[in-house]
Parts: sequence; C-alpha cells; structure tokens
Amino acid sequence: MKESEPAQTDAAQIESARADYDICVIGGGINGAGIARDAAGRGLKVLLVEAADLASATSSASTKLIHGGLRYLEYYEFHLVRASLKERERLLNIAPHVIRPMRFVLPHDKAQRPARLIRLGLFFYDNLAKRKRLMGSRGVALRGSPLGRPLEHHYKKGFIYTDCRVDDSRLVVLNAMSAAQKGADILTHTKCENLNQSGKVWTVDLHDLVSGERWVVSAKTVVNAAGPWVRSVLDEAGLTSPETPNIRLVKGSHIIINQAYEGEHAYVLQQPDKRIVFVMPYEGKYTLIGTTEEAFNDDPYEARISKKETEYLCAAYNRSFKKDIRQSDVLWAYSGVRPLFDDGEDSATSVTRDYVLHEYSDEGPLLLSVFGGKLTTYRVLSEQVVDRVLEGQADDIGPWTASENLPGGGILNGDFDRFILFQKSKYFWLDEGVLYRYARSYGLLMDRFLKGTKSYEDLGEHYGDGVYEVEIHYLVRDEWARTAEDILYRRSKLGLHVSGETVQNLEKALSEILKQHSR
Ligand SMILES: Cc1cc2nc3c(=O)[nH]c(=O)nc-3n(C[C@H](O)[C@H](O)[C@H](O)COP(=O)(O)OP(=O)(O)OC[C@H]3O[C@@H](n4cnc5c(N)ncnc54)[C@H](O)[C@@H]3O)c2cc1C
Repeated sequence: MKESEPAQTDAAQIESARADYDICVIGGGINGAGIARDAAGRGLKVLLVEAADLASATSSASTKLIHGGLRYLEYYEFHLVRASLKERERLLNIAPHVIRPMRFVLPHDKAQRPARLIRLGLFFYDNLAKRKRLMGSRGVALRGSPLGRPLEHHYKKGFIYTDCRVDDSRLVVLNAMSAAQKGADILTHTKCENLNQSGKVWTVDLHDLVSGERWVVSAKTVVNAAGPWVRSVLDEAGLTSPETPNIRLVKGSHIIINQAYEGEHAYVLQQPDKRIVFVMPYEGKYTLIGTTEEAFNDDPYEARISKKETEYLCAAYNRSFKKDIRQSDVLWAYSGVRPLFDDGEDSATSVTRDYVLHEYSDEGPLLLSVFGGKLTTYRVLSEQVVDRVLEGQADDIGPWTASENLPGGGILNGDFDRFILFQKSKYFWLDEGVLYRYARSYGLLMDRFLKGTKSYEDLGEHYGDGVYEVEIHYLVRDEWARTAEDILYRRSKLGLHVSGETVQNLEKALSEILKQHSR
C-alpha cells in the first residue's frame, strides 16, 4: 500500500469496494491493539497506526491490575464491576504468562469505612460473576500474622481478596502480534494527521514520523482509539459536533521503592480523602505504590510526577507501614493520563471508569471513537466495536477472543509452574533468573529465540546483566521494538535492573540489528 499509493488519493472516486482496508484503527494502546486483533480474526482487512511505540502512552502507565475495581461499587457501578470481574478469569486463561493472580490485603480502619460495608462490598465482589480459578474473600487477623508484620501495630484485622496483576505493555504487544498473525498491518511511529469522508469511505492522511514520508489510505471504517487524544483527533479533522463527548484527562502517578516487605501479596490502603492506594510487589526486588489523581491539561506524552504527588504517595504509605519512606527513597516513578469519559461528575475519583463508543454520524462511513475504559475491559470493548462494525453483514466467525490464547499463552492448563519446570529441563544450562524472565514475558514465544540453543554461545553477544543478542533480534523482528527504551521499559522492565554499561552496549548493538532487519 505504502509503496504504490500516490501522494494524494482522489478521495471522491474511491468506492467502498475498493477501499484499501475494512478498518483503520488509530492508536496502538490496549484498546487499539485489542480491536485490531478482534477485527483481523473475523476476517477483516485491518490497519493499525500508532504515532509512537505500541503502549507508549496510558497503556504502559497503569497500576497493572486486571481487576473488578472494588472501589467502583461505592459509586454503584455494578455493570462495570460485573463486566470487569468476568474478564479477570477470561484474560488469565488466555494470557497466563503475563497475567497472574495476586492476593490483596485490605487492613481494616474503622475511621475510614465500617467493616460491614467492606464485607458487603466483598460479598458482591465474590458473587457478581462466576469464578473458577480465583479465590473468594475472607477476613484475616493481622496482628501476629506475617501479613500484618510490615503494618502499623494498630491494625488488628483486615480482609483479603484476589484480583490479577498484568504486564500492561506486554499485553498490548501480544494483542498487536496476534492481530498481525491474522493479517493486520501494524505501523508504529505512524501518525494519523487527518481524516476525510469521501463517499462511502474515509481517507486517512498518514505520516511516518521516522522517515518523514506521507501518504493516504482509504478505509470503510475508522476506529479512533487514540486514548487521551481521542477528542483531538476529531477536533483536528473538524469532525466534532455539540453531541461529541468531552474527555476528562486525569493524571495518575506511581512510585517505585526498594522491596518493602516479603511475600507476593499487595496491600490496599484507605486514605482520608476516601481514595485507595495500592502497595504491591514489583519486578522481584521492588515495591510499587500508586496511584494519584490530578486534573491534567497538557500534552499526555509529557505527563510527569509532581512533588505533591510523590508526597501524597509517601504519606499514604507511611500512614499504614511501620517503616517510613521519604522522597529520597523513590527509585523511579511513572505517570499516565486516564482518558475518562466526562460524565459531568465534579471529582476525578467519581468520574466513571466505564467506556462510551461514540459514532460520528449515522450517515456515511462509520467512524467510531472510544472514550474512556480500563485495561481490564479492553477485550469486551473490542468485541463490541467489531460487532458494531459488522452489524448487518455476514460474520461467519463471530466473537472469538474470549477463548483463543494470546501469543505465547498456550501453556498447558494455564499451569505456569509446570511450564517453568518444563522449560528448565529444556534449557537447564540457562541462568534461572533469565529463564524465569523469558517465561514470564514471552511464555511459549521464548522458544522462538531459544529453540536449538545448547549453551550461552548460541545466545550471541552478551550486553550485560543477562541481556543477550538473540532476544533483541526477536524483539526487533517480531515485536516492533525500535529503540532501547522500547526494549528496556515496554517489551520488558529491564531498565529497572541493568547497569548503564549494559544500556550503552545495547544501544550500540541496536543500530546494527535494526539495519539487519530492515534489509
Ligand atoms: C494511573 C493509571 C492507572 C491505571 N490503572 C489501571 C489498572 O490497574 N487496571 C485497569 O484495568 N485500567 C487501569 N487504567 C486505565 C487504563 O490504563 C486505560 O484505560 C487504557 O490504558 C487506555 O488505553 P487506550 O488504548 O485507550 O489509550 P492509550 O494507551 O493512551 O493509547 C492511545 C494511543 O494512541 C496513540 N495516538 C494518539 N494520537 C494518534 C494519532 N493521531 N495517530 C496515531 N496514533 C495516535 C498514542 O500514541 C497512544 O499510544 C489506569 C490508568 C491510569 C492513568
């Protein structure tokens, strides 16, 4: 398409039947990637364009939970909580490598919420949707228990429930990979600069931000999944009307400190402002604390944690944990911007986390825009979008994404522990930490770059800290990685673990590897 298309398509002459694509999806966050996957799997010709790297915006800056959202029950969001609870086990089943159950300990603080209210909330949480793999909730005695050990002495009891944690940016990449396997074209560093309606199709002006090349494609449907930019894509194309929803941008930040406690469980800390803050194990030797909520009006790519947010998170932690932390304990922080559907609520905390699909007009080709949403609900959202696109047309395949594994996720019975044992016997010579990281990040995909290897010599150059050449070739060839940052912070979280020397070695090698794969 890119090579043969003239610089400007004579838009008016494009017939629907001759459109380059059935769907052009704008935005390679979780929603765009999920929609591309679903649509490609139903036989549609799909193009996904992402202005930067996959998951470079909100979808790599989340709290990393696949959860029902216990807190949303306080806002009577039963529909959202039920849909999210249903998704937990579905997503766990299709991606057991990047998603895993995690227990959450909620220390009881009677000054915040009465115990009976929490019990009622947890009753709904346990029963709003069927559970097979995830345990239900129960009360726990904290005093004298290992669960209570890191907490202030005054916490006597609490509650424990189960949700899931996810590697958010890898979930995005796996959806994009699945879409590509089913025939979708995925173009990263490619911005949609304008949209024009011409007869029965949309023409989409594209700009390759690396090469500078510009071209136009046509598509029967456009899905605007640009997250925090959803409204600006429409504004810039002159496609808004008084009915177009507004978006509420809310910044949320997280801090990372050295591992604060033993165990694989998380804590849910109630705050005097009625918000909750999660404290959870992260990347083996760290603890993640978040999140904040702050109205935001700048460029979402530039969202950074403020001093006030760091202070808020340290204070939230210090209120409940015995050993205080200070701002100087913060090793790393990240911020993202929630693109919330503006439902007119005053406070950012009470604005709905549910999504709204907006249609540009009921005449002419379809333009759907995704307002709001959660990582947890991306799959149902995608299904709903594709159902709408196919409305009135033959859909021989129908909804399919609830049961087909994401790439690398076809682990026997979803049993990750057995999978690890199996991989250990296969690659017995490989350092356990490296093997575990490969298994968690790639699942069965790790065999793509390890198959046939018998010793370290077969892994190519060692850049340091367990980062080997074969993995980098794989990430460039199969996962659209282009820069060291793509590799160190989105395809993995190696950036938190490796030395400056390893980063330099990787950066140096990467330009050569990129050249090899572009030939
Ligand atoms: C602090 C925080 C914590 C959160 N925690 C959770 C959680 O624990 N669990 C949960 O379920 N949800 C959570 N969420 C919500 C969730 O992260 C978001 O709903 C989700 O990531 C939004 O995905 P998206 O695809 O809509 O947007 P994004 O991930 O922002 O993707 C949009 C993409 O569009 C691209 N783009 C923009 N304009 C253009 C253009 N013109 N052309 C091409 N590409 C373009 C951008 O580069 C971007 O990559 C959290 C959100 C925040 C901010």
